[in-house]
Amino acid sequence: MDYEAFFDSEIAGLHREGRYRVFTDLERQAGRFPYATHHSPAGQREVTVWCSNDYLGMGQHPVVVRAMHEAIERCGAGAGGTRNISGTNHYHVLLEQELADLHGKEAALIFSSGYVSNWAALGTLGARLPGCVIFSDEGNHASMIEGIRSSRAERQIFRHNDPEDLNRKLSLIEPGRAKLVAFESVYSMDGDIAPIDEICDVAEAHGALTYLDEVHAVGLYGVRGGGISERMGLAHRLDVIEGTLGKAFAVHGGYITGSSRLCDFVRSFASGFIFTTSLPPAVAAGAAASIRHLKESGVERARHQERVARVRQALDAADIPTLANRSHIVPVMVGDPVLCKAISDSLLDEFGIYVQPINYPTVPRGTERLRITPSPLHSNADIDHLVEALSTIWRRIGLHRQAAE
Ligand code: PMP
Repeated sequence: MDYEAFFDSEIAGLHREGRYRVFTDLERQAGRFPYATHHSPAGQREVTVWCSNDYLGMGQHPVVVRAMHEAIERCGAGAGGTRNISGTNHYHVLLEQELADLHGKEAALIFSSGYVSNWAALGTLGARLPGCVIFSDEGNHASMIEGIRSSRAERQIFRHNDPEDLNRKLSLIEPGRAKLVAFESVYSMDGDIAPIDEICDVAEAHGALTYLDEVHAVGLYGVRGGGISERMGLAHRLDVIEGTLGKAFAVHGGYITGSSRLCDFVRSFASGFIFTTSLPPAVAAGAAASIRHLKESGVERARHQERVARVRQALDAADIPTLANRSHIVPVMVGDPVLCKAISDSLLDEFGIYVQPINYPTVPRGTERLRITPSPLHSNADIDHLVEALSTIWRRIGLHRQAAE
């Protein structure tokens, strides 16, 4: 086989469909979020970042940066091993305590990333619970899908955010079998929010475990940043709350929280937890500092929500089409991969604004979009600049369309 020719033809297919991914080379600067230096063959230039998952700008927060520096001074760079073999650092233990407390659970377990936490935890639960059937929301993230797949458990996909469909599907399964319902609180691309209480009602009625991914909600919702489950007073009804340390907490890593027995079970059987070097102590220290700060301070959350509302209002006033939702994610809908990329390129090249285009398979074909994520640190001038730039491009597209007709 001509391997190189095969790679070429597969990549050419992505180019043809307009969904070849181009990484934007950014240099973030401490204390300067949401501005960053963009490196390109044309040189370097400052840009405003409008698509970061560092939702609150905590990645640049002095409390977090200081905690990481201090941990490096005390412990050096790496963890020195897997959790089982010399790699459990005291900072990991403290971080797990912080996380269990955040969600009001007995225990927590940290993983290399949010992706790995879903893959490893669902993979282990699905594989080892006897005759397990996993009920998965059709909008679930790739990491959950991969975890469920690798567990080889029977999988039932229920309609997005539809407790009735879940109920129907659960009713068809023999009562004696283990069951687990996996879903998200805030869905990352549409920004819609799950009816957690109704899903818990249905799961409870059928004796199913509940597994909630709060990756896009932790740090952002709830009085202490415990996510939508905290805001709705539902954390106690969820058997597993999973989250990331890489988005609102703005460092790196993932975790699950739950009962001591459940966490001990995953800790003991999940190969994606056992056989990998643990997070650097400084990463654990930074994440713990970020969580602690956001438990006590609601300032960032309040300002974040205010900025989101302002961006939405400005886009609405300019007739830029967004998807309505009740979260902090502002999807500007384009509906075509090539156009989406062209708009993103214009924003970057002409206006110094960085918003990555979101194409299939991240979102369904025909729903390609710019996923805008306002932060507490975007100024009024930044918002005006973004909306003016989009309006200019929108007008131009309109003119192009008229010219073609
Ligand atoms: N779950 C969801 C819903 C996500 O969107 C993501 C990442 N985009 C993850 C899990 C994975 O988290 P991490 O980036 O920490 O690997």
